Amino acid sequence: MLDALRQPLETGECIIARANHRVAYPSEFQLVAAMNPCRCGMAGEPGHTCARGPRCITDYQGRISGPLMDRIDIRIDVPAVSASDLIRPMTAERSADVAQRVALARDMQRERFESAGIGGVTTNARCSTALIEKLAEPDPAGLQLLRDAADKFKFSARGYHRVLKVARTLADLDGASLLGRIHLAEAISYRIASERLSAAA
Ligand SMILES: [Zn+2]
Repeated sequence: MLDALRQPLETGECIIARANHRVAYPSEFQLVAAMNPCRCGMAGEPGHTCARGPRCITDYQGRISGPLMDRIDIRIDVPAVSASDLIRPMTAERSADVAQRVALARDMQRERFESAGIGGVTTNARCSTALIEKLAEPDPAGLQLLRDAADKFKFSARGYHRVLKVARTLADLDGASLLGRIHLAEAISYRIASERLSAAA
């Protein structure tokens, strides 16, 4: 079932082909998913060692195929909430403020594609690979960082372009016209989060 999501994630379309008919349904969506780090659910917690050893992580995470994982752009390890976290007062940004920042970034993207004469594209996520290379324009330090990370972590071509898109969006959220090294570093960290946990096993 999960791997059936690969095509709509990539193209925003669901194609059903039968003997004489082929129908494409619009299927653009945003995938938000959560999983435990391992079968016992405790890997990565300070002081915890899985009873089944490192295979507790590798077997469990291996159930998500590489090609599906490659299409998930932002991966974040979320540590367990402790009792003191619950007691301590929260100092979080208000959702309304975040929503405003997102709306501004979306406006920036809409204008970007309009002025480039690209019809039908309103977000960095939906823009073509050739176009994101042209529009993302990382500074030389950022480009070097991306090349080094792509070599070290063996990014697929898809992964490389997706990092560029996430970084461009992070710069948009900053209101920055130039894509800096800092935005690329953050985007790269989101792609390699789950690899860090596997490496720790
Ligand atoms: Zn475990």
